[in-house]
Amino acid sequence: LVQFKGVQKTYDGLSLVVRNLDLDIRRGEFLSLLGPSGSGKTTTLMMLAGFESPTAGEILLDGRPITKTPPHKRNFGMVFQNYALFPHMTVAANVAYPLTVRKVPKADIDKRVARALDMVQLGGKGDRFPSQLSGGQQQRVALARALVFEPQLVLMDEPLGALDKQLREHMQIELKELHRQLGVTFVYVTHDQGEALTMSDRVAVFNDGLIQQIDIVDRLYETPSNRFVAGFVGDST
Ligand code: ATP
Repeated sequence: LVQFKGVQKTYDGLSLVVRNLDLDIRRGEFLSLLGPSGSGKTTTLMMLAGFESPTAGEILLDGRPITKTPPHKRNFGMVFQNYALFPHMTVAANVAYPLTVRKVPKADIDKRVARALDMVQLGGKGDRFPSQLSGGQQQRVALARALVFEPQLVLMDEPLGALDKQLREHMQIELKELHRQLGVTFVYVTHDQGEALTMSDRVAVFNDGLIQQIDIVDRLYETPSNRFVAGFVGDST
């Protein structure tokens, strides 16, 4: 679906935050970008989203370069740690927002919002305001908003980071189930080994601006490609 080819990124012109990234994101997979703080995961996601441009290299979507395409034209769903819901708008209006800006007819909007809210088990809560919901529910609203326009790719950056452990584990199961049902491609940034290893089809292990290994979960355990991967992945057990 997406290819990174020789992508590099520097913010200050001196040090490379992303060194030389070749990455194939497969249609329909749940791919986690896992690594310690500062390893370049978020920068990689921001380049995919279009909020940052690569210093060198190219990003292709279905074989076509998107390096110069602005974020709103890429049509990706996005969920971040600070949910960034609009506080003055109801839950339904928040979820409807991506459809409103795309000028979808009102009757369609209502139908699709109801479906998206059902999907995240918030059916009937459309009239509430974000402040009247728990953290986990707010995060589900953000997820519904990311899914409502049926994007082919959903990008998430530590979306469960602000939740307590129990809720986080519950949401991990829900996310995985939702991914299975929808069949869309998920790219998920996390520094939490357990989270990445439970939910993903494949994990790209980042360190120091480089992907150390990208593989299915079992293979990361069985045949880590170097000491860093062995140590970092091994820490989750
Ligand atoms: P974290 O989990 O802490 O967000 P990360 O693996 O996602 O870490 P990045 O956020 O991509 O890593 O950051 C990689 C490096 O780039 C860090 O050293 C960070 O300080 C630097 N960096 C990130 N964003 C910017 C920016 N907008 N301007 C300058 N430097 C930045």
